[in-house]
Formats: sequence, structure tokens, C-alpha cells
Amino acid sequence: MLLLIPGPVTTRPEVRAALAHDFAPWDNDFRPLLAGVRARLLRIAGGTPDRHTVLPLQGCGHFITEAAVRSFILPGGKLLIPDTGPYSDRMVRLAREAGRVPVTLPISQTMPTPPDAVAAALEGEPDISHVGVVYSETGSGVVHDPAMIGAVVRAAGRRLIVDAVSAFGALPLDVAAQPEIDAVVFTPNKCLESVPGMAFAVARIDRLEACAGHAGSWSFDLASVHAHSLRAGPGSSRFTPAPQAINALKVALDFFDAEGGQPARLARYTENMRVLYDGVLSIGLEPCLAPEHQGPIIVNVHAPDDPAWDLQRFVDALKRRGVLISNFYNTPTPSFRVGCIGAIMPDDMSRAVGAMAEALNELGINRRRAA
Ligand SMILES: *Cc1c(COP(=O)(O)O)cnc(C)c1O
Repeated sequence: MLLLIPGPVTTRPEVRAALAHDFAPWDNDFRPLLAGVRARLLRIAGGTPDRHTVLPLQGCGHFITEAAVRSFILPGGKLLIPDTGPYSDRMVRLAREAGRVPVTLPISQTMPTPPDAVAAALEGEPDISHVGVVYSETGSGVVHDPAMIGAVVRAAGRRLIVDAVSAFGALPLDVAAQPEIDAVVFTPNKCLESVPGMAFAVARIDRLEACAGHAGSWSFDLASVHAHSLRAGPGSSRFTPAPQAINALKVALDFFDAEGGQPARLARYTENMRVLYDGVLSIGLEPCLAPEHQGPIIVNVHAPDDPAWDLQRFVDALKRRGVLISNFYNTPTPSFRVGCIGAIMPDDMSRAVGAMAEALNELGINRRRAA
């Protein structure tokens, strides 16, 4: 089955095989595994070991995003969140429920966040301490540039938190060049092509030390994760980690390196996206984004304007053909979403387009343009 949902993604059999072991997370044989994975993730982020650290947290992307918000923003503190779509909405809710004050910046959701809009919003509100930005907005498929947004955040003397959950490993990152970044958060089950279970933040050590005690939650306190790591060693965990997921990530990182790292992964995903984007056009469907704003992670396609359209029936017809997509959509008007990430190749995307054509015929969908 091709998993194009996107995330968790299609993984390699070797990655899944790495789950078939028992581990004692506190054992001296396990510790180098976690320490090694953290060091490799730091290199992918462009971090320097004297200034940055990679912090593991059990759980999913929402958990690590909440942890970053709690750990770096004071209770009652304000953060500006460009309204990129459903995932910025999620950051808004996480922040609000953690007792921080999100301030949303309305922007067009079909193109990248204009940095000058962020600059103008910060100028008007000097008590906003942070900006929270979604690197790749999985709801729309648009990539927002943390380097350009970071430049205005830095110039305004504020701090940046980046949700790179659907970007890390595929889109470029250089935290050493962006001192305004407090944390970049991500999970291994998207562009790193591993399995769910653990989440990670790349964070600045000086800021972690300055922010100790803010979180208001022991579980979600990155400063506590850092302090524990200093005390007990980089392969240690405060609470039971997901050791199988960490072992799988090690194998996934071996494939990541062998492929040629982030640039190679971005090139493959970009090719996957092009084959998919051109393919859906060729069968009469309409992608939601203009080609110049279409990112390489996920393509949203307008629901065909045909009375026979039914997303769940389309998903089921595709599944019978070995392709699994989401049975929900995140765009303002009906659509379906197809991921371009995971251990999949452009040929797989051609196969998926072929399956879509067959499924549309099976459902009797003739009018394929958007409403
Ligand atoms: C997948 C995703 C998340 C988090 O998802 P979880 O289900 O919590 O792992 C957060 N942000 C973005 C942009 C995502 O794509």
C-alpha cells in the first residue's frame, strides 16, 4: 500500500524491521543509540553542538509544539502566528490552552507569508515576544520561508518558533544562521521517513537555560529535558521513550545520508510533486495552488464539480488499487489531499495518478474541474 496521507508516510522495510527488538531504554547499550540520533539530527538542522541541542520528547508533533510554546514563552506572553492554515490554527489553540496569548496575522493561505506583514504586525505590538510559523503548511501545501520571516523577527528583536513537522529533512534549515530561533520542532514520521512515537526540538542552549521553569508542565518542559540530559547524559531519558522508534529512526537516517541528505530528499519530493501535479491536471482535475506556490510536500486537489463526487467512495476506490489518501480535507472548499513524501518515487506518483483516473471512471465522475 502506498501511504500518501501524508504522514505517517510509507517507510522502507528495513526501517520497519528495526522495530522488531526489545530494548531497555536505561541500558548502556541503548544510550549511544539515542545520543547518536540526536547528534545526527543536530547536523541536519545546521546546529553547532556548543550553541544548540536536539531534545527528544515522547509523542507526536502537537506535543513538541506545545512543549516549545510552553518552554520559551512566558505564561501570559504573546506570540504572533501568521494564519497559514489548519496547522497555524493548531498552534493558536495549543498556545491559548497553555495560557499564552496568540495574536493571529491574517494572510492569504495560497501563497507564502509576506515577511513585511510580519514586520508591520510586530512594530504595532511591542509586547509580542515571539513569532510562531509553520514551515510547510500541510493544510494548504504552501511553504513559508523561516529564513525570510526570521530576518524580520531578528531585526525587531523578537524570537522565533518554527513548526517544521512536515518540513524537517526535506526543506533547508540552518539554525546557526538564525540566532532568533528558540526552537524548530519536528517528528521523524514525515520527511525523515521513519515511524511515529518520538518528537524532537532543535533549540538554543542559552535560551533553554534562560527559560528554565516557564513551562508550567513537567511533561512538556524542554528546559527540564535539557537539564536531565546534562545531568544524566545525552542518551538518557526522563521518562520511558519509544526505543523501537528511535532504533527505526537510526536506520531511516542511514538511508537519508546514503541518498545525499536534505538536498537529495528535496529533489526527489519535488519530482514526486511535479509528476502528481501534472498528472492530476492531465486527468482533468484542478490542483488548489498555482504552480509557483505549490510546495513539494503535499498537493491539494479541488473536488470535482460532479454530483457523483464522494470523498470516502473515492478514497475506498483508490485503496482497492493500493493507494491510500486522507478521507478529509483542510482547505476552505472541498478538496482531497495527496502527500508527496515518504519512501516513494516519481513512478509511484504516476501509479497513484493512474489509480485516480480509474477510480474517477468507476465512480462515473465526468465533470472534473473545481466548482
Ligand atoms: C503533521 C503535522 C503536525 C503534527 O501532527 P501530529 O499528528 O501531532 O504528529 C504539526 N504541524 C504540521 C505542519 C504537520 O504537518
